[in-house]
Amino acid sequence: MTSKRFVKVYTGASIVDAGLFQNLLEQHGIVTQMRNYHTSSAIGELPFVETHPEVYVPIADSEQAKRLLAELNEDRSDRPDWHCASCDEENPGSFDLCWQCGESAQLA
Ligand SMILES: [Zn+2]
Repeated sequence: MTSKRFVKVYTGASIVDAGLFQNLLEQHGIVTQMRNYHTSSAIGELPFVETHPEVYVPIADSEQAKRLLAELNEDRSDRPDWHCASCDEENPGSFDLCWQCGESAQLA
């Protein structure tokens, strides 16, 4: 029995954000739906930037979609600060290597 139910796996801060994720999923053969893409005219003067597009995938693909999202987030520079396992120096999340000793980030 195949479920046609879609579940929300992502809420984007912007359409660019959501579109990036949507493209990634489609590259992996996952069917996506984007909702809240357009603000309802009922909201009137709400600016376009206030939309939070939501990406939906078939429930059967949701686990894979979440893994892909986690990988996507790792590619970005918004990781939390981390402590070097070698010298205990604090590094910004955008650094892959410790600025002090060059050890790789140990991301838990
Ligand atoms: Zn270090």
